[in-house]
Amino acid sequence: MSILIRNIGEFFTGDLAQPTAAVRSILISGGRIAILNPPAHECKADTVLDAAGGAVMPGLVDGHVHPVFGEWTPAQDCIGWIGNYLHGGTTTMISAGELHIPGLDYDNLTPELVTSLAVVTAATTGRVRWSGVKLQAGTVLLVPGLTESHFDRLAAAGVKWVKFLFYPFGQDTSEARNYVVWSHARNMRVKVHTGGVSRSGASVVCGYDVLSWLQPDVAAHVSGGPIPMSDEDIDAVVDRTSFALEVCSSGNYRSTHRLVERLMSRRELSRLTLGTDTPGGTGVIPRGMLRNILYIASMCNLTAGQAIAVATGNTARAHGLDVGVLAEGRPADIVVCGSIKGSAGTTLSDAIAHGDLPGITHVIIDGQFVVTERSRQTPPPASRAFFCCCDTGKFEARSV
Ligand SMILES: [Zn+2]
Repeated sequence: MSILIRNIGEFFTGDLAQPTAAVRSILISGGRIAILNPPAHECKADTVLDAAGGAVMPGLVDGHVHPVFGEWTPAQDCIGWIGNYLHGGTTTMISAGELHIPGLDYDNLTPELVTSLAVVTAATTGRVRWSGVKLQAGTVLLVPGLTESHFDRLAAAGVKWVKFLFYPFGQDTSEARNYVVWSHARNMRVKVHTGGVSRSGASVVCGYDVLSWLQPDVAAHVSGGPIPMSDEDIDAVVDRTSFALEVCSSGNYRSTHRLVERLMSRRELSRLTLGTDTPGGTGVIPRGMLRNILYIASMCNLTAGQAIAVATGNTARAHGLDVGVLAEGRPADIVVCGSIKGSAGTTLSDAIAHGDLPGITHVIIDGQFVVTERSRQTPPPASRAFFCCCDTGKFEARSV
């Protein structure tokens, strides 16, 4: 199916180097962005969506979720959480570990158990696109005693991520260093819990001292999840390391401000990634990624385009994914939205600068409409996109 989106008022690329562009129409074909600003003779499509002068941005990439069983999260006993996040603009999610499986004994995790858990999750929850969302699940929780053969099993099962969460960093660093080397040799990326202990109470404190030698690919929730590392450690991590630094909804607002300001002053915003760290102790937050964007834009002085790029292109790149940037040839994962009636903002950029929530009408994943007419999680925008031609009404909101 081909889609033409026309009459675009604001276009957000998801690329921090050039966050906005003068794109007024997009042609989507075969699930990908075929042409930006197609010439008149190319403006034929199966479906035409008039953006009504509103905004188009990449689908949001939540770099830190904790799935367990598909749409059910036992952490808050909620059903349908992935579909609800989709209506908050999230089209891709990366699991930071499936630790909320009921009955799991954090004090007795064995190499065999954590490997099996990741393999089973990759083959179940990670196999299906729940509500259409691209969920990467099956992230192994590293424990002492893993051998290289465990990593072989994980790689064969399609596991892409390893997570230091309950790992007891001690004096001997050789085992943890080996895990990083073995992961990278199998194209798996490494994330590490930072700050004070997690809700489980089972993780250990992790700040600059550990990060400096561990050298993960992404340091998770650097400003707290829920408890941040010290101010001195945040400064040292920004100044003396170069890996990606993640901010999550579960964190400390003051620490987030400090981190983002320091990254901006060093012109290193490209290291910043976002996630919700939910479902979990923070709850189920369908608009969590939007709230992250609003905070770093309205309180930390990023432009709307920069904040959106952090939540899309930056986060996708740090996790090795090809989504999050709207350019020709890229997957057509798209959110159509605008400022809400009564908002201080006249445009989406203006609304985000004021810290006002955007209203979403349509979400597209791989060239397929997965949200139509309006989001059930945001108020409608003042100016609403609509289907043109005789296709109006053809698309019903997909039930989840
Ligand atoms: Zn987490």
